[in-house]
Amino acid sequence: MSILIKNVVMLDLINHEAAEKDIFIEKDRISQIASKINLSPLTANTTIIDGKGKIALPGLVNGHTHVAMTLFRGAADDLPLMDWLNNVIWPSESRLKGEDVYWGSLLGIVEMLKSGTTTFCDMYFFMDEVARAVEESGIRALLSRGMVALDPVNGEKGLKESGEFIKNWQGKASGRITTALAPHAPYTCPPEFLKEVISEAKKLGVPIHIHISETLDEIKIIKEKYGTTPVRHLENLGLFEVKTIGAHLVHVDDEEIEILKRYRVGAIHNPQSNMKLASGIAPVQKMLERGVLVGLGTDGAASNNDLDMFEELRTASYLQKVSTMNSQALNAKTSLEIATLLGAKALGFEDIGAIKEGYKADIILVDANETYYYPRHNVFNLLAYSAKGADVETVIIDGEIVMKNRELTRIDEEKIKFEANKRGIQLVAG
Ligand SMILES: [Zn+2]
Repeated sequence: MSILIKNVVMLDLINHEAAEKDIFIEKDRISQIASKINLSPLTANTTIIDGKGKIALPGLVNGHTHVAMTLFRGAADDLPLMDWLNNVIWPSESRLKGEDVYWGSLLGIVEMLKSGTTTFCDMYFFMDEVARAVEESGIRALLSRGMVALDPVNGEKGLKESGEFIKNWQGKASGRITTALAPHAPYTCPPEFLKEVISEAKKLGVPIHIHISETLDEIKIIKEKYGTTPVRHLENLGLFEVKTIGAHLVHVDDEEIEILKRYRVGAIHNPQSNMKLASGIAPVQKMLERGVLVGLGTDGAASNNDLDMFEELRTASYLQKVSTMNSQALNAKTSLEIATLLGAKALGFEDIGAIKEGYKADIILVDANETYYYPRHNVFNLLAYSAKGADVETVIIDGEIVMKNRELTRIDEEKIKFEANKRGIQLVAG
């Protein structure tokens, strides 16, 4: 199987150029990029895509989400965080069954594919069902079972199930699925448990995915319990010796930013969730200036309320500008980078996030025909500040077309909407 994309404006995030190119894909990788590629003789199994009028960019990387939480989207909004968790989310989640997570994951995956996300990093429960949805849909994902260890019995159960999940799914779906260990957060996982997780992660050779410094309440709890801040606390425990993907990192000081940089922690920024839950503003511009590996995520759909990474990267940019009172903060190119190449590195991927020879063929084509793509002064600015997820027309992941002309090739969108709607309403009603 091979694919030739002809005459497409290609966004090159490594050399910061946008020019018309042909892109040749063989199997799962990008094999050639040139101004003209003539295949002669043309093999019968090459699919030709006419890229005229379209913009090709690397598939977007959603660095932190709980994808099945689409089931709770819009069920209750505008509440204080603890009200929302105690009275809506946790009671609904306690009723969750595997099948619900499967359909909720598919609903989220449809939304991600249709808005240009080709890789996501997830933490949730019933992860076999999430993995099944990933396998069937054609998307790429880094998956982990969330572990809460306030009760040690739960912690041990979580660790055991995580180990089984990793054994069963690491490298599956032709390598599209990779796995991690996910202790939920420093305030829900005591030090002894975290030490166990660290040694298990080293043994299994997987990264750790964890929420860090999301709210001021968390900072207060950790200071009271351990006399220090969350990032320092985790450093003291040795957690960052394992490749770490840290979600949020809203409340961090300069020294903590240095720690994140030193250990190459992937710092996943979730601006819309942080705004909606009134958590605060992460110092992303400063982190980038100091060389932290910053990625971008939507968090779960219940606290966002969608999974559109174009919207997320624009929000990230505007939020940095207004919070630093500096219009040059998080510029167009950098906000595209944290959603692609830098975001991929933050998760530990070395061969996705850019359209480059040898990289995995995860490419999206944006139909740049709406009025807001004209005039064509600067393609980077147009994509960062005008583009919408709904303009994504074609999605290629691992060298396979999984969406063409906004039609998904592997999964049935109407059936997924029907099932997820029915289940979501039942779960929240109780
Ligand atoms: Zn989260």
